[in-house]
Amino acid sequence: MKTVYFADIILPVPLPRLFTYEISEEWISNVEIGSRVIVPFGKKKIYSGIIYSLHDTKPEDYETKEIISVLDETPVVNEIQLNFWNWIAQYYMCTLGEVYKAALPSGLKLESETKVHYNSEFIAEEKLSPKENLVLDYLSENKTATIQDLNNLTDLKNSLPIIKSLLEREAVFISERLKDGYKPKTKKIIRLSEDYYKEQKIQNAFTDLGNAKKQLEIFMTFFTLIGGANPSNFAKSIDKNVLRDKSNASSTQIKELVKKGYFVEEEEQISRLTKSNDSLRGVHQLSESQQKAYDQIKTHFEDKNSVLLHGVTSSGKTEIYIHLIKEQLEKGKKVLYLLPEIALTTQITSRLKKVFGNELGIYHSKYTDAERVEVYDDILKNNNYKVVVGVRSSVFLPFDNLGLIIIDEEHENTYKQFDPAPRYHARDAAMVLAHYHGAKVLLGTATPSLESYQNAQLGKYGLVELFERYEGIQMPRIITVNVREERRKKKMNSHFSPVLVQHINEALENDEKIILFQNRRGFSPYLECNQCGWVPKCDYCDVSMTYHKHINQLTCHYCGNSYTLPRVCKACGSPSLQTKGFGTEKIEEDIKLIFPEVKVARMDLDTSRTRKSHETIIGNFERGEIDILIGTQMISKGLDFDHVSVVGILNADSMLNYPDFRAFERSFQLMSQVSGRAGRKKKQGTVILQTSNPDNPVIIDVINNNFNQHFHSQMEERKAYKYPPYYRLIYLTVKHRNQNTVNQASDYLGEYLRSVFSHRVVGPQAPTISKIQNWHLRKIMLKIEGGVSLTKVKDLIQDAITTLVSHPGFKATIVQADVDPM
Ligand code: ADP
Ligand code: ZN
Ligand code: ZN
Repeated sequence: MKTVYFADIILPVPLPRLFTYEISEEWISNVEIGSRVIVPFGKKKIYSGIIYSLHDTKPEDYETKEIISVLDETPVVNEIQLNFWNWIAQYYMCTLGEVYKAALPSGLKLESETKVHYNSEFIAEEKLSPKENLVLDYLSENKTATIQDLNNLTDLKNSLPIIKSLLEREAVFISERLKDGYKPKTKKIIRLSEDYYKEQKIQNAFTDLGNAKKQLEIFMTFFTLIGGANPSNFAKSIDKNVLRDKSNASSTQIKELVKKGYFVEEEEQISRLTKSNDSLRGVHQLSESQQKAYDQIKTHFEDKNSVLLHGVTSSGKTEIYIHLIKEQLEKGKKVLYLLPEIALTTQITSRLKKVFGNELGIYHSKYTDAERVEVYDDILKNNNYKVVVGVRSSVFLPFDNLGLIIIDEEHENTYKQFDPAPRYHARDAAMVLAHYHGAKVLLGTATPSLESYQNAQLGKYGLVELFERYEGIQMPRIITVNVREERRKKKMNSHFSPVLVQHINEALENDEKIILFQNRRGFSPYLECNQCGWVPKCDYCDVSMTYHKHINQLTCHYCGNSYTLPRVCKACGSPSLQTKGFGTEKIEEDIKLIFPEVKVARMDLDTSRTRKSHETIIGNFERGEIDILIGTQMISKGLDFDHVSVVGILNADSMLNYPDFRAFERSFQLMSQVSGRAGRKKKQGTVILQTSNPDNPVIIDVINNNFNQHFHSQMEERKAYKYPPYYRLIYLTVKHRNQNTVNQASDYLGEYLRSVFSHRVVGPQAPTISKIQNWHLRKIMLKIEGGVSLTKVKDLIQDAITTLVSHPGFKATIVQADVDPM
């Protein structure tokens, strides 16, 4: 009897289980945990999955199929990653398949699109079946086809068994390694043919080429470029394009020399990731207070795994990180430096590049997939990168010996993935990842999250505070302007108070720069009929649409749909539609009216869709080519400009009034962070804070830069209303296309959960936006007190969901869980 082995495979399907496949003898020696395999799934599909485990237990409840092919010679996912994926799946209530989809760059995944190639050297030794012939004929004509294409061939609903037998005969093969999504980038190079590796032969060649003037010129240029016709240079190669340009020749003329056997032309693989040859600078010397903070961090690391560095804006936290990174690299360890947003990576990256050069890798979603595969591969094979700067998905990179994870701006809610699953918080996940590596974690921020500060208060994290700005620059002076009063006195110029305009003027006169902050993009939040109050809403979502003036369209910020502007009110037909409220685009237009001579730029999601575009805006502002920068929360954090003297917060109220229990915490963070952009060497910066509510306690705390007061008052509220960090939250979103069904299903689920968790269940209720892309939504919230086993809670919730969706009336219902929602 032959030994049968089985592999449990992670597949990119939203089913909460692994799938067992048989490993045929041919693949036995190739299978390793963490390698990618191709497997058939269901009747027609084919997937690539990851081997999660190997064993010899035949599953009892189903007939196993065989693995079609093993794609990797060595695993692409290591054991730590698999443990980490497991943790994510369990903690955030999703499937391993969903984690797999999020974790690998898509160039490393292949789905039903897997390509089958024709092996032109195949000679049939046995007779092929008619179906095998059909597939082979098709492939010999088309060279390659996807499995899907082959399934569509007449007489062939399921091509898999045939592909499999053809694979066994080596008549076809499946594209391997890094797959179709990824093609290495190459350049053409020219080198001397080995026949000419003798000086005498080269001399002869010169003579022989005597009549072909152009070719002789190319030949001579080649030797100049390799540094002379002596043996030590013979093996050197030259970029074909360079040779062409330097000798003013054409590709065809170079080709002639290849044909005559003087040159050899080859393809050389080049990296897409730019390398620089700039010389590195050493680390800066730390100031006295930075040094003190640095020493305290290290002392804490002796008996704690995590430290919170609470340092005011511009205190030089990044400089401290650089010192800590350097130290890890010297120990041969790697470092992951997490940032909440792509907008931030530009500046930080250029600072780190100066110190770490080509040992610095960058990983984020504005990179092309091919670039991401190269970074992934580099880390997997331990090639160049020792420090990686990345956004949240970089926690999924295949590190093997992390020594330190830095989580910069740890309070940022963009660390939380909202959609699709896994709905993970990169900060919290990174803590777990660090634990698997035995690595330390440094959380840094000027405005700690309540969660992290509480952990520091409880002694779970070490706490290090740095209240002095680098070089003793003063914290900015904050002036509040009561816009309600100004408006009553008719003193507002559009959305700008006289105080703000005056400060902008003064700054401009002194050749200083200004940042204006408005946490809303677009021209105006919505359009409203002056006669009847009708507001245009998205057809698919229950939200009013945002007016974008430059495209003269209404767009839905939830589903992205755009609509042409209605000329008249759709309810009463009156033409008096008016824009209400204001976004960054409107601010930009109005400020240009007041300061027509001034260079203004805007940075928000709309103006920085690509990596280049936001790099350009930041670069221009850094170089002083922009006087006034207008932006959303994108400009509030981390950016370090040394010539900004005035920051205007145009409307603090919309942040404070946002209907969410974190609104005050978030407002404090945003206002403190954006204020932190003001201030220059030897001169205090000014912040003009416009509000209708100057007595709001959050505003008072921001003005006094009093984090402690803010922390304590917020913590009291959280405790009183049962919110984090005292209680853990789990949101369940029930979705259905039909409004009645969603009501019934969510009521059913609510009742079920209440019977288990009683008063801990809140809802169901319609969320603020109760319809998105034609899906009706209902929300149920669970508040779980400390000390309760969350694993148990999640199991019980899973039972409830399973019961609901297996109920015949609720079949097409979707329930999404969001653990620790933001
Ligand atoms: P934070 O991250 O705390 O906001 P940064 O690290 O961006 O602060 O520092 C603010 C500014 O001070 C930056 O321009 C940085 O280059 C400079 N800086 C900080 N520490 C030093 C140092 N030790 N030597 C020289 N420049 C420093
Ligand atoms: Zn109307
Ligand atoms: Zn919509």
